[in-house]
Amino acid sequence: MKLSKKLFLIQVTFFILLMSGVVLTIIIFVLPEVRKIETQKHLDSLSRVEQALTNELEHLAVMAVDWGEWDDTYNYSISPNTTYESSNLPLATLADLEIDLLLILNKQNNVVWKMTSDALSNDETISPLFLNRWNAQHPLLQHPTEIATQGIFLTKAGPLLIARQRILNSQGEGPAQGYLFFAKKLSQSLTNKIADKIATPFSTKVVTSSELVPSLTFIDNNQTHAQSSIPLINSDNQVIQIDIFQARPFYLQALNAITYSLVAILLIGIISCLVTYFLLKNILINPIVLLQKQAEMFKKHDGNQPFKLLKRSDELGQLSSSFVSMAKDLSKDWGKLQQEKKDYRDASYTDVLTGLKNRRYLEDYLQAPNTWVYDDEWAFFTIDLDHFKAINDRYGHDVGDITLQQFSELLKKSCRDKDIIIRSGGEEFIVLCHQTSSDMATIIAERLRHEVENFNFGRENHFKITCSIGLFIIQIYSREYGLKHWNSMLKVSDLALYAAKNNGRNTWVGLECLEECSEGVYPKEGIDIQRWLSEKKLKLLTLNKSPEEFCW
Ligand code: GH3
Ligand code: MG
Ligand code: MG
Repeated sequence: MKLSKKLFLIQVTFFILLMSGVVLTIIIFVLPEVRKIETQKHLDSLSRVEQALTNELEHLAVMAVDWGEWDDTYNYSISPNTTYESSNLPLATLADLEIDLLLILNKQNNVVWKMTSDALSNDETISPLFLNRWNAQHPLLQHPTEIATQGIFLTKAGPLLIARQRILNSQGEGPAQGYLFFAKKLSQSLTNKIADKIATPFSTKVVTSSELVPSLTFIDNNQTHAQSSIPLINSDNQVIQIDIFQARPFYLQALNAITYSLVAILLIGIISCLVTYFLLKNILINPIVLLQKQAEMFKKHDGNQPFKLLKRSDELGQLSSSFVSMAKDLSKDWGKLQQEKKDYRDASYTDVLTGLKNRRYLEDYLQAPNTWVYDDEWAFFTIDLDHFKAINDRYGHDVGDITLQQFSELLKKSCRDKDIIIRSGGEEFIVLCHQTSSDMATIIAERLRHEVENFNFGRENHFKITCSIGLFIIQIYSREYGLKHWNSMLKVSDLALYAAKNNGRNTWVGLECLEECSEGVYPKEGIDIQRWLSEKKLKLLTLNKSPEEFCW
């Protein structure tokens, strides 16, 4: 994987981790805190409602004390009179005191005065509670108790906020002459009034439950339900449940703030990642890639491509300068190495005695695809010195060597620069000439034969020697064909040399391929050649003999 891709992946991973971290922090730390604050706010609302109901009861109780500990009321409960009634108990009193019931009970538990608002007087379920004569077990004498003289009392018509006060004189002394009752129905209008006052809408209902702890439920993103309860003074298994359904502006605001923050972090994160990516790419990766490409070019151009120096004062600049000096040294060593390699290769391709190319070179040359080109006429010469052994025997091996060298020089002179001259072994030579027609090839063969015949060999140029030449001429139509059959072509040339030897030496014998050879089938022995000549697949080229006279 490329460095820039790796860097990109690192940036993306970093970004994903960062964003996951931020989201997790919000989920684990921020949102629970928001809920905690919100819960506290809603529970505060609940206690505000509870406090408002308690205040209502307190207010009733204060009024009851005010009326109950008053000489006028005291006297009235002993002997009811119209004066008290007309001045203190007109019908408007209920409205003035904002209550639904005003009841005076004398010492004998007889109701001496009872006044109810429409809310109670229209409700028949509640009237049995206020009959004129009470006994000691009357619920309103049991509850409220002597200690808690006010509370919420459950009736069949619904809960009543009730306060009971013993009737005493204005000094608060007795003996008590009965009881004064003030009550208010916990109606919808009352809860609405309280809700307006404390700016917290709520509702109440009587439910069966021994205990109801204040709790909060998050209904959805827009609404919560807070609930708690207040006890009833005359019931142990029922309570007044307070319900507050409230919107969640704080939560929604917090959500908005979190969303905006997340978007901002996302954008800042993306921009930061992009900026750091491009900075790191320019500062680190691009110079490394440049060094790597230069190293590749250096290798491709065999150490001849110089390194460019990165003009930087940091470690990469130092690395680049190390590369430059290393490349200089390497170039020198490389050049030397290449020269040595070339020398070794030349040596391995060269025949030491004559300086001509050897058999190894021939094979590598013929196996190289570039040797063979389309539609090229090739002439393969195989040349052998006649009775060379006799030279060695007569003049010595060293003179034989000189003879071979002199013969090589003659060969070089007779050939063109582009011809390939090989000493294939002992006193045998091969010459490859392409772009050479059969006429030209026979001229070359005859010229060589003639020059050798007339040359004076030996250290003192005192003896003669001749050579025999085998020749094969073929038209090459494809690279693949040349690569596949060059061995067979050399073999035919060799067979032609045998023919030259067998037919008197100091001569040349040429064979030109007419058809079959070009299809990849070659004669393998002298006898094949005879047949092929008669079938006109090969054409014999020779100095003075007809095919019939030939000895194969
Ligand atoms: P033919 O006409 O049939 O070719 O006879 P020839 O004597 O030339 O052939 P033969 O194969 O019998 O002998 C070749 C001789 O070449 C034998 C060997 O001693 C000699 N020879 C091979 N290599 C060298 C060499 O490098 N230096 C010398 N001086 N002689 C060599
Ligand atoms: Mg020979
Ligand atoms: Mg030989």
